[in-house]
Amino acid sequence: AESVKIVMLGDGGVGKSALTMSLIRSRFVDEYDPTIEDSYSTTRTIDGRNYTLDISDTAGQEEYRGLWASQHLNTADAFILVYDITSHESLEALDYFDSLIVSAFDVEGSKKPVKIVVGNKCDLASDRRVTSEEGLGWARSRGAGFMESSAKLRVNVEETFALLVKRVVEA
Ligand code: GDP
Ligand code: MG
Repeated sequence: AESVKIVMLGDGGVGKSALTMSLIRSRFVDEYDPTIEDSYSTTRTIDGRNYTLDISDTAGQEEYRGLWASQHLNTADAFILVYDITSHESLEALDYFDSLIVSAFDVEGSKKPVKIVVGNKCDLASDRRVTSEEGLGWARSRGAGFMESSAKLRVNVEETFALLVKRVVEA
């Protein structure tokens, strides 16, 4: 199987681990250590081809991010930039994470990584602070794909990773 290396980025609490676990274990998991930064591997058949998805679920303090980023970002094939639709701040935080990606790949001849922006927690519709249009607009302006998901209800979890793989294959 072809391997696709994916890094989850976004503010603490937006649901990076919940989305990762939802894909890995095919269910919503609510009991894990939020400080754990780990890698997971799972396989999927997409458009008739087998892929191994290697997912790095990031966590941790602001001051470590830059160091971690410089060591790991430029080996990734794709990024999932996650925000929480109930927090406008979490969308604004993606500016920072996108700038890390841009600088990690700002090397002559380096391949442009695939980016997918995910507005998570779409089950919390009554607390929504970011419209779908705004999320989509932000994603488009950065050349990224866009999805709204709920790790909790498992809405658009498989679809997000399938979109990502398709983009990696096309890239
Ligand atoms: P991370 O810091 O980005 O890894 O965020 P977590 O995955 O730890 O999630 C933070 C909190 O949001 C946890 O209490 C999760 O149960 C909750 N959460 C994650 N995804 C969803 C979702 O889609 N809907 C709802 N309602 N809660 C979610
Ligand atoms: Mg986490």
